[in-house]
Amino acid sequence: MTRISQWNGQFSCFDLVARTQDNPGSVVRVGDIEIGGGELVVMAGPCAVESEFQVLETAEAVAEAGARILRGGAYKPRSSPYSFQGLGREGLKILAKARAVTGLAIVTEVMTPEDVPLIAEYADLMQVGTRSMENYALLDALGRCGRPVLLKRGMTATLTELLQSAQIIAAAGNPDIILCERGIRTFETATRNTLDIAAVPVLKTVSRLPVIVDPSHAAGVRRLVPTLARAAAVVDADGLLVEVHPCPERAMSDGNQSLNPIEFREMMDDLQPYLALRGRVRCARPERLHVAGVH
Ligand code: PEP
Ligand code: MN
Repeated sequence: MTRISQWNGQFSCFDLVARTQDNPGSVVRVGDIEIGGGELVVMAGPCAVESEFQVLETAEAVAEAGARILRGGAYKPRSSPYSFQGLGREGLKILAKARAVTGLAIVTEVMTPEDVPLIAEYADLMQVGTRSMENYALLDALGRCGRPVLLKRGMTATLTELLQSAQIIAAAGNPDIILCERGIRTFETATRNTLDIAAVPVLKTVSRLPVIVDPSHAAGVRRLVPTLARAAAVVDADGLLVEVHPCPERAMSDGNQSLNPIEFREMMDDLQPYLALRGRVRCARPERLHVAGVH
């Protein structure tokens, strides 16, 4: 196995997630959706699952605008014990209903190893949040969960540490991992985090794993989200994770950075020429086959 790039040897110990001549790029399948196959896969939805009405309304809007995966936290890592903590199992059921109604796949966060089996029953893609990137017991459990994993970069983690966490999941038996750049903590305070856009080409050079960008948690304010999404499209990110709420002003978490459905549709339309510049398209839902006389 010859490595295509070792980046000064810095990443050379992550053999299970490394980019090699034999494996220059993995495609991770989430249901019938391929991530890492060249098309941009958009995952969108509320920060937190708040109610069935909120989730169904959002799911229908984002599916209509071209998203393929519905995001929404049922178990929320909140920095205050007094903030809304998520609906738990009831939230998972709401997400499953939204999948049944819209055909969208589901990505939702898991915070503890004990929750892995339950969440794996409902989720198509298991999300590891920035605060959990170094929860090694969780990563180990996700190695045996039977579902692909979306691994978000710790807000103070280097790319080496991100790949180390990916290697732990892979070493525990799960090769299906998607990396997510969601902004890191720097001295800048104008944005919630600093989007490390260079992380995308670095990771895609040294790792075989698909890389997506979360412009919402990087920006912290909604007006920056479409611009950061454009940047992700032109550096060949494999997908986007975007927060959308039917009424962001009333959101129980992360309303400031959530787009409303109209803004989300505008963002999706705005991305097209930037993708075209790179010879790419958005991953679209396959046309349903209509056979005459059969319904
Ligand atoms: C989220 O996706 O809502 C979330 C909590 O993200 P992060 O872990 O990146 O803060
Ligand atoms: Mn959020």
